[in-house]
Amino acid sequence: MTNSITVRQVSIMDSAEWSWRDGRPHWRGGVYDPFPAYPHDLAVVTSAVEYVQECCPPLWDVDLHVLDREEVARSNAATDTREGKQWDEAAGAWVPQPPHGDIMLSGKRIPPHPSVTRYAVGHEYGHQVQCMISHARGAKSVHDKAILTEYVALRGLPAESVAPGLGGTWHAAAAEVFACDFRVLAVGIDPQYWPHPGVPHPGTVEGLAGWWDQALADLTTFRTAQDAAEAEPIEAAV
Ligand SMILES: [Zn+2]
Repeated sequence: MTNSITVRQVSIMDSAEWSWRDGRPHWRGGVYDPFPAYPHDLAVVTSAVEYVQECCPPLWDVDLHVLDREEVARSNAATDTREGKQWDEAAGAWVPQPPHGDIMLSGKRIPPHPSVTRYAVGHEYGHQVQCMISHARGAKSVHDKAILTEYVALRGLPAESVAPGLGGTWHAAAAEVFACDFRVLAVGIDPQYWPHPGVPHPGTVEGLAGWWDQALADLTTFRTAQDAAEAEPIEAAV
């Protein structure tokens, strides 16, 4: 069974849990503004999703949620990759579960421009791909930072940029540069748009395109082996 990205429409007002403490709707770790908002256009989202997963099919299932309310954090989108174990009663053991990705596209007070939608899909999927490359390399966690440590050296970024960017430093965070490099070099969405002042455009960095070619080729090799292993019939225990 191959994995895919599934687009899901979410009504925050129907799905949220309301917090006694702050009186606001919470959903999947985010806090949302009940003020009416416009979701990203579903046709644009679907076409961008089909495009990115054709360029780089996922190693695990990803749900891309199109939300009808805006997160109070005001970002356009967010991403998360879950991994963990599940108790197997028969085996009497915790069994590792395949990772699972979530991408949330926040609603906005005016309808988002289609370019913003395409940008957000490409960029957020780039975060998933970072986790996928780590997974294919055998990292204990998909959130392992070794890939970013390697990437800051390749990119000439300061070592401290491996840490997530706080307000006003998003543009300099290694993971954000990585996600936008994926958008530009791997899937070519709005390649001239480079929202990282002070960081060279990926098209001008020597060796970077080759690093991505190799990383994507390694992902293809891992995905092919994973799909083949899943397709094999399970032999009865004797
Ligand atoms: Zn990002």
